[in-house]
Amino acid sequence: MFRVAVITGASRGIGAEIARQLSVAGYELALIASGPWKETPEYPTKTVTYQVDVSDFTAVKQTVADIKKEFGQIDVLVNNAGITRDMLIMQMSEEDYDRVLDINLKGQFNLIRHISPIMLRQRSGRIINISSVAGLIGNAGQTNYASSKAGSIGLTKSVARELAPRGITCNAIAPGFIETDMTKDLDVPLKQMIPLGKSGQPSDIAATAVFLASEGARYITGEVIRVDGGMGM
Ligand code: NAP
Repeated sequence: MFRVAVITGASRGIGAEIARQLSVAGYELALIASGPWKETPEYPTKTVTYQVDVSDFTAVKQTVADIKKEFGQIDVLVNNAGITRDMLIMQMSEEDYDRVLDINLKGQFNLIRHISPIMLRQRSGRIINISSVAGLIGNAGQTNYASSKAGSIGLTKSVARELAPRGITCNAIAPGFIETDMTKDLDVPLKQMIPLGKSGQPSDIAATAVFLASEGARYITGEVIRVDGGMGM
């Protein structure tokens, strides 16, 4: 039985809801964000918070060691931390391009790099990377973000192939337009862009993550599941 889940970007939005639903499903939680945690969220299972910037290779290594010491094992990794720095390509700064790639893509690599040895020794594990529909179909004004999210899909499929012989699965979720801090200032014509005619909720993504972590998903790996109201089809 899987017991311990590590979730990045878990202080709010989609990550916080994934944490809540995984806790309800019985997982103990190691929660990561880059900002300071005001308090430890009250979920039904053991919950410990960690402050680390996922783009920092060495700091992530130390945090993973701390989590292993605290919980003894790591069964599920949800790579959810992400940012946007939108700008038209002609005006996008090098810094904004690099920062988005560093957090959204290298951050996922950093966590997998340091957690996969633990899963390999256990000969089991589930890795879930949060990509985006922008990584599948692109989005004007988001060349940095879409690059990072398309990269996450390549990362997912390569890791899936590499770790499959040891019983570890790796899948991606590609959310569409989900109501969180990330999207609160965007003015999007939902009815025109989304066949289901409305935005999604963090709970829609969390339910898919809980499924991918569950026994029922044991034969699924290297998959990208769109949860987008049909936006990316
Ligand atoms: P959000 O509300 O802005 O939350 C982002 C989370 O990531 C926060 O917990 C934030 O905490 C954390 N974070 C940011 N930078 C970090 C870093 N360097 N190191 C560690 N943690 C970091 O975003 P969201 O909408 O829930 O998005 C979650 C994921 O879903 C992202 O990967 C996003 O790209 C993806 N997604 C979202 C949508 C959408 O419509 N909302 C659509 C497609 C994909 P701190 O600020 O404290 O670090």
